[in-house]
Amino acid sequence: MTKKIFNSVITVAGIVLLASAVIIMGCLYNYFENVREDGLKDELALSAAAVEDSGISYLEKVRSGSCRITWIASDGTVLYDTVTGTKSKENHSGRAEVQSALETGEGQSNRYSGTLLEKTIYYAKRMEDGTVLRISVSSATAGRLALGMLPPVMAAFVIALAMSGMLARRLSRRIVKPLNNLDLEHPLENDTYEEISPLLNRISRQNNKIKEQFKELKQRETEFTQVTACMKEGLVLMDKHGIILSINPAANKIFGLTKDSTGQDFLIVYRNHEIAQCIKNAMETGHSETQQPGYGREYQFDASRIESAGGVMGAVLLVFDITEKVMAERNRREFTANVSHELKTPLQGITGSAELIENGMVKQEDLPRFTGHIRREAARLVALVEDIIKLSQLDEKTGYVKEETCLYEIAEEVVENLGDIARKRNIDIKISGERVVICGVRKLLYEIIYNLCDNAIKYNIDGGKVKVNIEKTKGNAVLTVSDTGIGIPQEHTSRVFERFYRVDKSHSKASGGTGLGLSIVKHAAAYHDGTIDLQSVAGKGTKVQVIFPLCSQNFHKNY
Ligand code: ADP
Repeated sequence: MTKKIFNSVITVAGIVLLASAVIIMGCLYNYFENVREDGLKDELALSAAAVEDSGISYLEKVRSGSCRITWIASDGTVLYDTVTGTKSKENHSGRAEVQSALETGEGQSNRYSGTLLEKTIYYAKRMEDGTVLRISVSSATAGRLALGMLPPVMAAFVIALAMSGMLARRLSRRIVKPLNNLDLEHPLENDTYEEISPLLNRISRQNNKIKEQFKELKQRETEFTQVTACMKEGLVLMDKHGIILSINPAANKIFGLTKDSTGQDFLIVYRNHEIAQCIKNAMETGHSETQQPGYGREYQFDASRIESAGGVMGAVLLVFDITEKVMAERNRREFTANVSHELKTPLQGITGSAELIENGMVKQEDLPRFTGHIRREAARLVALVEDIIKLSQLDEKTGYVKEETCLYEIAEEVVENLGDIARKRNIDIKISGERVVICGVRKLLYEIIYNLCDNAIKYNIDGGKVKVNIEKTKGNAVLTVSDTGIGIPQEHTSRVFERFYRVDKSHSKASGGTGLGLSIVKHAAAYHDGTIDLQSVAGKGTKVQVIFPLCSQNFHKNY
């Protein structure tokens, strides 16, 4: 801008200087030409009067004057010329000024030299005797004058130009300085040229608009971050080169990333050939999926291409934790296989015994043993089917109604029902504690206490002890079933809640176990938001605690 202002000032100064020089020279030239012409006319008039009086002798006297006087006869022949000082045969009748003088009494004409640098002015006057007196003078033309004045004018021009240049530089700097110091963050606070007020107003409006748009963008970004931060699923947004644009905390956790990896290449941050292929496929085909294990869990990766205006912008990778689903599927397959096996064994026993009886291969005295075997296997089948039904109902979680239920009352009922079995083995079973009411499904709570007490008797020693305690602690209802039985070796304690898992299969079968009791306890406790704690020492006994949350205010009733 400084350069532009400088150039403009210099150009204007140059043009003004040139125009001024031309106009002044033109005016002066005109003025002096007029003066000269008037002087020449006066001199011609005086000379004419003198020639009228004195004739040729006057002309002979003025021979050496600055003007040239020519006396011309009416036929155009030169009677006398003050320059040559003689008569001449030259005929001037064709000259414009002479012709005009002969016709009108006066005539004038200008003639230029070959180079156009000199001009001769002619004035002619007709005398009383019909002759013509002509006066002429030569002078420099305006062009010659201009050429003559060129050096001083150029010198003045250069000096003026240099001064204008200096002035222009200072001026342009002075003009530009406030513009350079403009505070564009707060355009309306600038105290500067009035002319740029509309521009500053516009900048201010645009600043406000940008601020609003920025605020809106920030808000959207915050919303996006909040939403993705709350997501259980991992989310990774990447551009078409695989550079991470956004990654949520769940994804960081899944990929084991501790630092912010935004801006880095995803395939370098998390090196996995399958996932890299999945993303590549998604970029090419639009969508791709894969399942991969990671850090002890099972994940599903869904990659989708992001498109805009017909072009590929990048990809979004969603990561789902499908461990539970995979486990459930595996458990279901195992359970089906186990159920088939568990059902097949007693059925084979029943079929075998029945076939022997049918074929008359069983002696009369052995008949009770065989029929007893059939009855026990059938009872085991019934128990097994009942437990399977209970478990599948618990899996469905339907048909249960929660109500205020006293755990102590259920424990009393269980102890009474198991009394005969305990007595047969001389096992002492006792209840202690207080009446604690929880909000639960009576049938399921009965199953929990029954299975725990049943196990405490089944895996006890003859003459052993079983204690059932119910109490309230820290806002919870705590059910404890402890026994002085065979205990569970440490390596089995984490697995006894699995379906069909038994520490000693023959002992379990011999005592009528199905291998589903603790599994039912686990599911029924979970249905009541309860937690289970099992402590056992092999050879000494087992203690199982189920901790239930107490009834909420709405359910509570004074017992
Ligand atoms: P089961 O029908 O075989 O008793 P459970 O699911 O109730 O099946 O128990 C699983 C296994 O845990 C049992 O087979 C047994 O080996 C072990 N167990 C359960 N309770 C006790 C206990 N109180 N004392 C010793 N072992 C136990």
